[in-house]
Parts: sequence; C-alpha cells; structure tokens
Amino acid sequence: MAEKEKLVEIKNLKKYFPVKGGVLQRTIGHVKAVDDVSFDIFKGETLGIVGESGSGKSTLGRTILKLLDPTEGSILFEGNELAKLSHRKMRPYRQNMQMVFQDPFASLNPRMSIGELIEEPMVVQQSMSKQERKDKVVDLLRKVGLPEEAREKYPHEFSGGQRQRIGIARALSINPKFIIGDEPVSALDVSVQSQVLNLMEDLQDEFDLTYLFIAHDLSVVKHISDRVGVMYLGRLAEIGPKEKIYSNPLHPYTQALLSAVPVPNVETKREKIYLKGELPSPSNPPAGCTFHTRCPEAHERCRLEKPEMVHQGEGQYVACHLYKPAAVK
Ligand code: SF4
Repeated sequence: MAEKEKLVEIKNLKKYFPVKGGVLQRTIGHVKAVDDVSFDIFKGETLGIVGESGSGKSTLGRTILKLLDPTEGSILFEGNELAKLSHRKMRPYRQNMQMVFQDPFASLNPRMSIGELIEEPMVVQQSMSKQERKDKVVDLLRKVGLPEEAREKYPHEFSGGQRQRIGIARALSINPKFIIGDEPVSALDVSVQSQVLNLMEDLQDEFDLTYLFIAHDLSVVKHISDRVGVMYLGRLAEIGPKEKIYSNPLHPYTQALLSAVPVPNVETKREKIYLKGELPSPSNPPAGCTFHTRCPEAHERCRLEKPEMVHQGEGQYVACHLYKPAAVK
C-alpha cells in the first residue's frame, strides 16, 4: 500500500505560558499547556483531538496555526518549518491554514455584513477582482447551504448553526488546504451539530481539505474523524485509527473517557471507570506519568518516569508503561 502523504508534522511541540508572581512580577513558573507533543496529519484525513477542558487541545491548535508562538519544537507544513517564522514570513502559509472557532458570534465582526465577512480574507490576499470576490461569496454561501440574500444581512440575524456555516464559508474563501476546527459544533444543539458535521465532511471531499478537529465530545469526534488523538495535561496519551481507539482503547485514560460515553447497544456497554481526583494544574503537573495521580493502573515506575509513545501496531500509539513496543510495522 502506498505510504500516506504527510501535510503537517508536529515534533516535540511545547507551549508554555509564564506564571508571574511577587512584587516584581517575575516568572515563578510555567503553565505547560502543550508539553512535548508529536504527531503527523496526513493529506485528506480528519484527525480528531479529544481531552477534558484544560488538556491543552485548543492551545495545541492555536500553536500549530502560529496564532500562539511555540516555546519549542517543530511545525512542518508540506515540509516547510513554520515554528520560528515571523508573522510577516508566515503570511504565504496563512492562506493554506485556517481556523473555525467554537463561538462563531465572537469570531464574526457584528458590524460587518455577511458578504463583507466572507470577502474580507480575499481582500487581504489581493489576488481577485471585486467581481470575482462577489461571485465567490455567492458560491460559498450556496455551498454552505445559505441563500444569496444572506450577503446583505448581519451576524445577529442568524442562528448559531447558520453562523457556524458563515464561519466555515469565511475560512474557505481563500482556498485553504488545512482547517483546524476548535470545538466548532460544541455550542450548537445536537440536531444542528450533525448538520454542520455533515457539511464539513461534504466540503472536505469537494475542496480536498485536511482537518484537525478539536473537541471534548467523543461522539462528535467519532462522527467525523479518521484517526483520533487523546490529550491529557498537555501531552498525547494515545493516537490511532478511529476504529482502534474506540474498539480497543489501550491507555487507561482513553479507557476511562470511553467508559463514560453512552452506547445504544446494552451488550457492548462498558463498565464505567471512575477516575479519582480532579485534573491536576498544568502549572504543577505530577512527575513521571502525569496521569499517575488518577490512574487505576498506576505503579511505582509511573511516579518516576515519563512514558514514551510506543507503537502497538496498525498505527495505534500509546504513552503508558503498561505497554512495550510491539514487534510490528
Ligand atoms: Fe497509568 Fe502508569 Fe500507564 Fe500512566 S504510565 S497511564 S500511570 S499505568
């Protein structure tokens, strides 16, 4: 089988935020929001990233798009290193990398009409005539399921689901190759969620898009993803094909998360795993495996040594001392 082509390669990525304290407001520590994360995103796929609030998944998305400067590590986009590029040098890449936010209302300027909002990225890019931009706005509105008249209206005149459609049309206006959705359907009603997810899937096929889809809801991630990564306290606990992660989760944290998801079939119902304690603070993460304070399988080594990601076959990787590297490709 031909090897899949990588669009994005993340290597040892870290994003630390300084914690200030004392009269002089000196740096007294760091919040390790993203801490040594590595993975690839293949062309045309949807990689879902799940984790509790505070797991660092949104910071990860923003750092990959360089909306936040990485503290350390590498971000390769089509083989080009972005991590250390200035904002000016990032400009040619911005066109290829767009974000769809959780709250479309907050991300859409309420004083701009929908036409202006969708057109704005094209104006900044300066590569189309006024008529071409106008035609493209109408075309994009149609593609996201909104009427042409929506051009003249303002964000407050639309429902949450419609506003998210507008946010998607805006992200698509400059033909990106890669879109990060940061909880793009979390604020929507369940019935509207699946409409927007289906729309995103249709557009992925039509525009040959690659998605990184960030969410806390495992059912939503299952709906749209080809592969899934699970984050805990700024680190990747497990990553692999969706079927493997959902049918055979290996990391105790993934197992606990999935045990809480309601399943329609009583026979396949998992016993709920209750985790002890709260999510520790990312400014003072536990030593060794950061999950050891809550893990039902924790043992002495877990308190001392950080587990490395090990391959368990068929593209499933896990960071846990319970597993040795499998002798498979
Ligand atoms: Fe649990 Fe230890 Fe595995 Fe961490 S390394 S998940 S504490 S068993």
